[in-house]
Formats: sequence, C-alpha cells, structure tokens
Amino acid sequence: MSDMLERTARLIDGIDTDLDVSFLGAPAKSADVISDEIAIVQAFSNVVSFSTDDGLVLFDVSHQMSAPTVVSAIRHWSSDEIHTAVYTHGHIDHVTGARAFIDDAAERRHRDITFIGHEAIPARFERYDLTNGYNGHINKRQFRLPEPFFPSDFVQPHVTYSDHTTLDVGGTQFELHHAKGETDDHTWAWVPEHKAVCVGDLFIWQFPNAGNPQKVQRFAWEWAVALRAMAALRPELLLPAHGLAIGGADRVVSVLENTAAALESLHEQTLTLMNTGARLDEVIHTVRLPAHLAELPYLKPTYDEPEFVVRNIWRLYGGWYDGNPAHVKPARDADVAREMAALAGGASVLASRAESLATDGDLRVACHLVEMAYLADPDNATIHGIRAAVYEARRKVETSFMATGIYRAAALDSRERLV
Ligand SMILES: [Zn+2]
Repeated sequence: MSDMLERTARLIDGIDTDLDVSFLGAPAKSADVISDEIAIVQAFSNVVSFSTDDGLVLFDVSHQMSAPTVVSAIRHWSSDEIHTAVYTHGHIDHVTGARAFIDDAAERRHRDITFIGHEAIPARFERYDLTNGYNGHINKRQFRLPEPFFPSDFVQPHVTYSDHTTLDVGGTQFELHHAKGETDDHTWAWVPEHKAVCVGDLFIWQFPNAGNPQKVQRFAWEWAVALRAMAALRPELLLPAHGLAIGGADRVVSVLENTAAALESLHEQTLTLMNTGARLDEVIHTVRLPAHLAELPYLKPTYDEPEFVVRNIWRLYGGWYDGNPAHVKPARDADVAREMAALAGGASVLASRAESLATDGDLRVACHLVEMAYLADPDNATIHGIRAAVYEARRKVETSFMATGIYRAAALDSRERLV
C-alpha cells in the first residue's frame, strides 16, 4: 500500500486521529505514487494521473499559480504524452492550469492534449466573464488576496458530454458521469480496471462545499445521489481533487456514504421545516448535523459549513424571500440603523452594547449591533475600532474558511479607516 493510502487508512480506521487533512496549501514538488499506473500531485487543486498504453489521462489541471510545479512533479513520474485531460468541473482551481500543460506538450513536441468536460462548462466560463469583478471581490475575501483578482483566460473543453460517456484510452476505460453537486457541471469517473473513482470536489476531506455564501447555487440532494452511486460500485480507491487518496473498499464506501448521509440529513430537516411554513430564521437556527456525522474527521466545517448548506437548500426550493415580511421590500439598512441609534441614545450606545455582548460571547447579536452603529455613523473612529474588534473576535471563534474570510475582511475594512 502506498504511503498516502496508509496514512488515510490509519485516520479512517481511528488509529491516527492527528492527520491534518484540510489541505489548501502550496503544490507538492513530487507526485505521490499510488500504484504503477496512478499518481496524484497534491495542489490546489490536485492533478490525478493515469498511465495508459496511449499516454497519460489526467483529472484536472490545477490552478494557473500551481500548474507549473504540478507539471514538473508529473514529469518526474512519467515522460509519456498527455493524451486527455478531464475537467472534473469548471472551478478555476481545476482548469486554469491548462496552459502550463499545453506549453509542456509543445516543448516536448507531443500531440495536442484533448480536454474533456461536462457540457455546462462553457456556460460557466461565459458567466465568469460576466461576473469577473464580482468574483474578484469574493476571492479577495475568501482566499485573502491582497487585491481583487479572478482569471479570465480559460481553455474550453474540446469534447463535452451531457449525462455519461465512456473514454477508451490505450485500452483503459474511463466512465464519466455527470452530477450536480458543488456545481452544475461536475464529472465523477469510474475506472473499472483499477476499481478507482475520481470524485472531483464531491469529496474534499472537509464538510461539503454545498453552501458557499458568496457563490451560485449548489445541489445538496443531487450531490448525495452521486455519492451513493459511487459507493454502490464499491471502489477500492478514491482519488479526490483536494486532499489525500483513500484505499480499501470499506473505507471508501464509508466516507462516501457518511458524506451522503450528512447532506441527506440537512436536506430532509430543511424541507420538513419549509413544509410547515417556517421562516428561514427558524430553519437556520433549528437544523443541526447529527453528532455522529459531525464528529467524523472528514466532515469538519473548516471550509464550508452546514448552516450555509441549509441556506442553499432553502434558496433552491424556495425563493430569496425569507418569510419575514419586513424583508420583502425593506428600508435601507442605514435608515433602520439611524432609527435604532436614535432610540438607543446614539450610535455609540449601540457600539458599546455590541462590545459588551461580544465580551459575554454573544457574537451573533454583537455583529448586528456593531454593524448598525457603523451604518448610523459611518465616519466615527471609535465605532470603527469596536467594529474591527467585534469582527476579529467573531473570526476567531468561527471554524469555516468562508465565514472567517468574510469577518476578516469586515475587520480589515474598519481597521483601514482608523489610520
Ligand atoms: Zn476545487
């Protein structure tokens, strides 16, 4: 068994619980060899590589920032031509490394790489062009970039498919299946010869990214259906686009089924409450992930989190109306804030109350009050100091990368106005 598979086996079997699996780091300089024909290069995103009699088949080509390192890691493992690269989906960390692989093929005078992906990927790239600025601001917050930035150069898939298709490269079959889940354009693959499943982002060693507050719709139910379909194949090997590979059918099936069960539970609880006519507020504060799933080392809410998934389930089946009539055609936030400040005896009163609530640990209410104080008196330096402190305190207690990125950005916004 390869070193990587041994490490993940110890974690899933409960022998070594200290393994850090929440990987968002720099690309690995060498490939992890899983077997004679399979290697994986850890990066943001990973590149999974299969060796066939007709050249290499890759799953994902990583981000443009990490791809040059990934190319050299793969080249350390194999000098074969790259025959095909499958985009597991169109997120930028999976596709924008394409140019580095195209350049490598040109330098080596290899034939052109065929890029394959789901038919919804070109529409995603069009949407990225329409929303480049918005996505730049999101990624500045989410990924702590110094300035807003989002790529605009995409290599389109040369071949697309709609529901499923089978590739035969050098006698090795790759069964590609479309699934809605993290995105509307996801592909997972079954490779019967190796009893391997390439999962893309449908399993990421962290709670599924089915909620992301700043991005388009995710699909919790369809995601669970895809995980169940993969589990039914009893794969011996799980090859993810983020984090480490997993070996052994029992382990692979258990992580796929537990992740499916987590999504199904949130889906069922949310729909049950929606069907009683509950407001979004009640749904968010009632639905909880069952404890036996929440404690699993690969379902920690370190990237996305269950509360955000509940919101996305609401958005999918309901609308943007949250059930609070004051919110359907609301006043401006600043007008409500000024009114509340006047009632309280000034914006500073709201801010100091926020400060003491934060000290007492009620950070949810503290954030509301400090934001009102700021909106009522946006140039008040004392209020900015308190606002920065409240959001910094909130950032420290939150677990998910998405929530902490937003609170960090809010704290920085007030810090910058203090100087
Ligand atoms: Zn990804």
